[in-house]
Amino acid sequence: MIDLRSDTVTRPTAGMLAAMAAAEVGDDVYAEDPAVNALEARVAELLGHEAGLFCPTGSMANLLGVWLLVQPGQELVCDVRAHVARAEMGAHAALHGITMRTWDSGFGVTDAATIAGVITPDAGPYLVSTAAVALENTHNFGGGTVQPWEHLVEVSRLCRDARVGLHLDGARLWNAHVATGVALADYGKLFDTVNVCFSKGLGAPIGSMLVSSAANIARARVQRKRLGGGWRQAGVLAAAAGYALDHHLPRLGDDHVAAAAFAAEVAAVVPTAVEAARVQTNIVVMDTGPMTATAVVGAAAASGVRLSAVGARTVRAVTHQEVSVDEAITAGRTVAEVLAG
Ligand SMILES: *Cc1c(COP(=O)(O)O)cnc(C)c1O
Repeated sequence: MIDLRSDTVTRPTAGMLAAMAAAEVGDDVYAEDPAVNALEARVAELLGHEAGLFCPTGSMANLLGVWLLVQPGQELVCDVRAHVARAEMGAHAALHGITMRTWDSGFGVTDAATIAGVITPDAGPYLVSTAAVALENTHNFGGGTVQPWEHLVEVSRLCRDARVGLHLDGARLWNAHVATGVALADYGKLFDTVNVCFSKGLGAPIGSMLVSSAANIARARVQRKRLGGGWRQAGVLAAAAGYALDHHLPRLGDDHVAAAAFAAEVAAVVPTAVEAARVQTNIVVMDTGPMTATAVVGAAAASGVRLSAVGARTVRAVTHQEVSVDEAITAGRTVAEVLAG
């Protein structure tokens, strides 16, 4: 089986497990876990922010980041395919009273003009006020799309001028950084709050980091505990994340090569399924044409390739450290045959 459902399927390597076993740990609810404290400081600095909060999931880090910026009854504005809107089980509304409106960017690339047309800051007594905008980089369901740097700068300026908060769901910001060479801190500084995940292509078993100002992170720490996310000797997990930054961040470009090779195989046979030139990182989103996504997922699995259905006629393949370029090419040929019918 070649498993391309997600980069979350990666398992800890022997080196990572050794780093976890060697971690110096303490009780993180008392802020006494040295490995957690070190990781929080390291990642905050990497992203150009004052402080970090290590969280069990990216969903929780997004939930806290958005909560810092949006009051109950106000709205968050984001892309129609954003993870915060589609894949967090309505948590922002269910737990924090936050509503959302969306724009449709197709493949995920967002520009300031589109956002300016949607936001309604200080909307007065009759309309919902926009308190924050959320962007995703890379854009997952958009196909691993990298947000162009100039767009991010313009969106950041727009939000600052409009006094609207700006959250980055950077679950795969690492991939954007590797694809563009833009420094992580340059990305981070454009946003009020940023989530990054260690559990995706970086290959850690669990863990995400929320970064922001020290005052924001102090508030988020209380809310994380309220949500049941106060954890104890989490240093074993912080050690895995630190190991991933040292050893797996430098190899993410290999996943981009594998995704491009996979997409080229598919596009060569079924050009309507994917435009190979649009594949920028480790995600390939494909249009299944006349077949349903579930039918394609079933047929591909029967031929040894696991994909995920992310829409009625959309399937996704994600490359990661347990899939070689050769395996990606093999998988691409298999999926091409399935899509060709
Ligand atoms: C995976 C992911 C998250 C966080 O997911 P968890 O499973 O909660 O860790 C957030 N945003 C995007 C874009 C993701 O792909």
